[in-house]
Amino acid sequence: MRLDFEAQPLTEDDETIRVHLEGVPLAPLVASVAHLTGDYTLLADDLRPDPSKVVMIGDEGYSPEQLERGRNRVADALIRFRNGGCTPGPQPDAGQLRALIEFIGGPLHDEHLRLFEEELALGGIDHRAPSWSVSSLAPGRSLTAAVIGAGMSGIVAAQRLRQAGLAVHVFEKDSGAGGTWFENAYPGCRVDVPNHLYSYSHAQTPHWPQFNSTQPVLLDYFRTCVAAFELEDAISYDHEVEEAAWNDDKSVWSLRIQDAAGGVTVHEVDVVVSAVGQLNRPSFPDIPGVESFEGVSFHSARWDYDVAYEGKRIAVIGSGASAVQFIPWLAERAGHLTVYQRTPPWLVPIFNYHDDLPPNLIWVLRHLPEYARWDRLALFSRLQEGLLPRTFVDPDWDLSSGSVSAENEEIRQALTSYYDFAFPDPVLRRKVLPDYPFGAKRMVVDSGLYSSVLQSPNVTLETEAIAEITPSGITLRNGRTAAYDVIVYATGFAASRFLAPMRVTGRNGMDLHARWAGDARAYLGISVPGFPNFFLMYGPNTNIVVNGSIIYFSECQAHYIGECIRLLLERDATALDCRPEVHDAYNDMIDTATRARAWGVSDVSSWYKNEHGRVAQNWPFNLFEYWRRTKQVDPDDWVLL
Ligand code: NAP
Repeated sequence: MRLDFEAQPLTEDDETIRVHLEGVPLAPLVASVAHLTGDYTLLADDLRPDPSKVVMIGDEGYSPEQLERGRNRVADALIRFRNGGCTPGPQPDAGQLRALIEFIGGPLHDEHLRLFEEELALGGIDHRAPSWSVSSLAPGRSLTAAVIGAGMSGIVAAQRLRQAGLAVHVFEKDSGAGGTWFENAYPGCRVDVPNHLYSYSHAQTPHWPQFNSTQPVLLDYFRTCVAAFELEDAISYDHEVEEAAWNDDKSVWSLRIQDAAGGVTVHEVDVVVSAVGQLNRPSFPDIPGVESFEGVSFHSARWDYDVAYEGKRIAVIGSGASAVQFIPWLAERAGHLTVYQRTPPWLVPIFNYHDDLPPNLIWVLRHLPEYARWDRLALFSRLQEGLLPRTFVDPDWDLSSGSVSAENEEIRQALTSYYDFAFPDPVLRRKVLPDYPFGAKRMVVDSGLYSSVLQSPNVTLETEAIAEITPSGITLRNGRTAAYDVIVYATGFAASRFLAPMRVTGRNGMDLHARWAGDARAYLGISVPGFPNFFLMYGPNTNIVVNGSIIYFSECQAHYIGECIRLLLERDATALDCRPEVHDAYNDMIDTATRARAWGVSDVSSWYKNEHGRVAQNWPFNLFEYWRRTKQVDPDDWVLL
């Protein structure tokens, strides 16, 4: 994956230019060409989408006449640009930049504008690089940091801390970087979030091959970032941190690390960043007999490519995002495939989910420098709220109706119409149609492939509960049995067991898991009182489920952790520890908001909830709110040691 933005020269004739703009999303096209050519008359009111009709992505909000008019004006501007020798316009002044960004995002107050500028990273400017360094704030002082995990969060944390001048070492349990994209290599694995958004703001690329890229492409992207951020020499692969212990006397963290050969080393550092991910410890079901099965069985995150699947009797247990992605691949090979579904997910149709980028869009991405950034900003602008408002609970709504508000009901009805279309057989449709509110559980993308595969002659959807796994197969509670050659567990991850199986002890020997007692909480999802200089990434209540990209959270967290260290240096302290009352008030606020979201009121089973029934995963607000809270560190939130 290349990260360069080098554009190809614009030499095509007028007609070719016009043809290549067909079907390209208009708002980012207008902004990128106004920016490129310096022709700000393009930002005309009659080329703005109707905000009330913009729901998610693409050209929603534009009438066909507007689209035609807009693309013609853009083509005219590009033709003039080409005729003038392709000389770019001057860089926009502050007013022009605001006009460009507001063309995409609508009217913005100053703080929003700053966030949008950061996300846009026009010209490749890395706005989030630390503006300070250890040597500038505390000459003569050195600080060491360990980052645990070289996945999407650990990579950016290590980069930021290094940029600030800390001596950083990354310990990664796997044999390569990439985290979830390293471990989940099952067939069909790909990202649900549009790719230009699912990438670091400061490491964008116009070279994504698809709207939603596949696991190998994403793995390649993160490896490229490791190289581009010059982190390779900082990472020890096959090194698992088993234990992190705070030493009260020395004010350092002591890490006990095991390598692949079983060797154990101890490493002392001032700061620890845990970037161990959340959805990566496979969870096997508590069904009796799991160990007794004599055929091949494995978890979806540990895919076995050595099995000859052709003609086999295969069972898949689970029907979440992972299962839906690999079931088409298995169905193509299996003699017979049975999908054991406990709770149907809401299937959301995205028909271009598996598609390559169309040639016109590729042409625009290659010829219009920075179009990719404007396209990414358009995605960010729309997905920063995404479907979140549609998950808000109306206190006067009848919750037994299967929805939580009029807006939520609207989605339920729209999706139900999709089910009518995708599942013509009423018996199957009844089995797959959820009865819980949209948003209460992780939605799953269907390009039309999964829904059609469920109707293949060699596929059965089984909704009877499983009683036990036997040496030869599966027995249902109704007594029916079926024999299998292969069982694939698509049963998800131990999401609520944050940081497990690592043992973490803080001040006075306090054990983190004992403190949490199965109910993980942290201030901003980042800090736990009693664990000084220990920072979490992708910690409790920082998962987004209906809006945005999780990479945005990693960037915000990396920035905030840097700002904490900055405070520590400015105050000449050795450590900072979050104030318990700040932590508690924050978590009360999260819980109150959660109770007003679909996932907070529904009793449907989901990994959002922990063993206490509390939602410890989801961020209940929009993206701006997390940025606002992590932009600066409030010294009053911390005890300085
Ligand atoms: P998951 O969403 O937790 O789904 C687990 C499935 O296993 C559910 O259908 C669950 O049923 C079922 N299950 C669990 N225990 C069971 C039992 N004892 N008996 C029968 N069924 C059982 O796991 P996942 O599909 O691996 O996805 C996890 C998360 O990873 C996703 O929600 C998503 O956030 C992320 N992910 C993302 C992508 C992507 O971006 N494309 C792809 C894959 C995963 P119930 O629903 O009844 O609990």
